[in-house]
Amino acid sequence: MKSAVYTKAGQVGIEEIKRPSIQEADDVIIRVVRACVCGSDLWSYRNPDIKAGHKNSGHEAIGIVEEVGEAITTVKPGDFIIAPFTHGCGQCDACRAGYDGTCDRHIGTNWSGGVQAEYIRFHFANWALVKIPGQPSDYSEGMLKSLLTLADVMPTGYHAARVANVQKGDKVVVIGDGAVGQCAVIAAKMRGASQIILMSRHEDRQQMALESGATAVVAERGEEGIAKVREILGGGADAALECVGTEAAVEQALGVLHNGGRMGIVGVPHYNNRALGSTFAQNISVAGGAASATTYDKQFLLKAVLDGDINPGRVFTSSYKLKDIDQAYKAMDERKTIKSMIVMD
Ligand SMILES: [Zn+2]
Ligand SMILES: [Zn+2]
Repeated sequence: MKSAVYTKAGQVGIEEIKRPSIQEADDVIIRVVRACVCGSDLWSYRNPDIKAGHKNSGHEAIGIVEEVGEAITTVKPGDFIIAPFTHGCGQCDACRAGYDGTCDRHIGTNWSGGVQAEYIRFHFANWALVKIPGQPSDYSEGMLKSLLTLADVMPTGYHAARVANVQKGDKVVVIGDGAVGQCAVIAAKMRGASQIILMSRHEDRQQMALESGATAVVAERGEEGIAKVREILGGGADAALECVGTEAAVEQALGVLHNGGRMGIVGVPHYNNRALGSTFAQNISVAGGAASATTYDKQFLLKAVLDGDINPGRVFTSSYKLKDIDQAYKAMDERKTIKSMIVMD
């Protein structure tokens, strides 16, 4: 079967590799129907130390169940499913508290990898997979796009709003105008925020957010951006959703909050130097981590997509065949597209 592999920094190719097989009783083999490139994949793509042939870090897919391990009771071959990146077991304390992205039964990170491929092995499948009614042919391309966001970016955007405890009437600022930031805008609206400001310098991304529920956009950064936000809100924000993963984004989020405000972090951190006490003087609540993808999908996000209440699939502004995966990465790396979808043959 064909799989994307990193060939060198800034290049992805296709390799013929062995089709995965069932290894554990709780495994499912999935034929991928749609996959995509995540903002977080760009960290591997840009890594100057990447070795040729390194497996792709793709972790978002929808597909058809091909084969199931002997412990699988929830899905059967032929079922159409979302393959969330989180692999929660559904039974441990963390999963039961609604944090399947950091399931207690996994050591270290348990996320998917290698899903930019024709087939994948999906571990902890019995609870973690989310069944979609019908078959892919029952859905429009736009709906397939929205279903695909349920593997990562929509639950991740939602997670930022949940851990920041966004509530009805809140003033919310979203840092990051990529796919996760766009989904965080949708989530803040779902939770009843009265004002939602997206920090963005790109007109197309600003426009998309305004159509999804943002009430204002701020293009300025740093102190200037913070001043602009405070001017629009007539004070600080109740919640800031950090959807980038850089220290500059964290600073921006902290800067827009009023004392006692809440910050939700879902950008995978690429910094390592924030002391726990750094927010003490402002009484800021800080929370965040990997999204509860399966939990949110099962509880309300799949229904919201199927009912047409939300349309997160708009973040896929371009589509590619698997063989053109290099273009899919390049377009995102150069910020020519918000998110690249991979359509399997
Ligand atoms: Zn991702
Ligand atoms: Zn668990």
